[in-house]
Amino acid sequence: MTETRHTKVLIIGSGPAGYTAGVYASRAMLEPLLVQGIEPGGQLTTTTEVENWPGDTEVQGPDLMVRMEAHAKAMGCEIVGDIITDLDLSRRPFTARGDSGTTYTADAVILATGARAKWLGLPSEEAFKGFGVSACATCDGFFYRGQEIVVIGGGNTAVEEALFLTNFASKVTLIHRRDELRAERILIDRLMKNEKIEPLWHHVLEEVVGTDNPKGVESVRVKHVETGEITEIPCKGVFVAIGHAPASELVKDQLDLHNGGYVQVKPGSTETSVPGVFAAGDLTDHKYRQAVTSAGMGCMAALDSEHWLAAQQD
Ligand code: FAD
Ligand code: NAP
Repeated sequence: MTETRHTKVLIIGSGPAGYTAGVYASRAMLEPLLVQGIEPGGQLTTTTEVENWPGDTEVQGPDLMVRMEAHAKAMGCEIVGDIITDLDLSRRPFTARGDSGTTYTADAVILATGARAKWLGLPSEEAFKGFGVSACATCDGFFYRGQEIVVIGGGNTAVEEALFLTNFASKVTLIHRRDELRAERILIDRLMKNEKIEPLWHHVLEEVVGTDNPKGVESVRVKHVETGEITEIPCKGVFVAIGHAPASELVKDQLDLHNGGYVQVKPGSTETSVPGVFAAGDLTDHKYRQAVTSAGMGCMAALDSEHWLAAQQD
């Protein structure tokens, strides 16, 4: 279908930042249109318990995002299942092209495209992606009941994934390149107390080893970062949890970026280097990267766009 839709505020992304922007922009009577992208609900749909969303001692990530979507809809935000493939910020109204064939024009744009999982870039990692190599324990953990698993990384995601995977696996080896985890204290404590988890310090993944027929993982070869010694660890699943990169491809040549691809915003605001374009959430934040901070920035972006649009009419 090829059609052109005009909106006062186009929100790109459906994580906590996008949906919160949708709630606030709707309540400001801006009749926003939100494009969800390939991952409706964003990163939290790939996790289980969320324990730091204020007001919920514990909530399942996917449930929280369903509630946020319903909230934005109830306030009047139009939610569209499409992916923006091209965005022109050089003239107003701004123009976005959707994978569906629809062209969206907008007086203001809120970018909330978040971040995506990083991979190590090894050929064997690529070869076994979807056949034993994964970046999402929630999605794929169930396949490894009673099996041995390795998790790569030392941040909150790696530790949470390792803990979650003990629900299925007989043993989880957490492979980290240093001997210090950057995860929160409470998660480290849980990890250390869990008898199914064995940390392997100062090691990096060298190669995923497996069979072609049937395609599957049999072991990993890991290297000691100081001695270079190689060790082979038998496992059926490899979970790569080495962080996320900002999804800024749409704007990389159009907006100022910082810290390796995050969209730069003016301090204390969501204004980008192009007037009328606002950015919120993990796309702009290399430091906090939390659901609650993303939601807060979504609110700021909606309010900033409201003020900016009002100023254009003066
Ligand atoms: P995201 O959630 O990354 O959403 C980005 C959205 O943009 C997606 O909907 C995607 O479809 C859309 N998008 C991308 N490109 C396009 C495009 N071209 N066109 C249209 N749409 C597009 N934080 C916590 O506070 N507590 C936790 O317990 C917690 N657990 C986590 C567990 C895991 C496994 C992970 C990976 C993260 C976790 N986080 C947690 C971090 C939290 O998920 C993020 O900080 C938060 O989701 C960022 O929100 P966001 O709205 O900026 O973007
Ligand atoms: P992260 O905090 O950036 O941690 C990435 C980890 O992977 C680090 O330990 C890093 O090692 C390691 N690493 C990076 N590149 C590597 C490579 N090439 N080879 C080997 N190891 C590598 O990423 P994250 O854990 O995905 O967390 C992202 C954000 O989401 C954080 O802000 C986090 O707080 C948030 N989050 C929060 C929760 C929660 O609140 N419960 C849960 C999940 C995520 P070094 O330590 O040596 O750098």
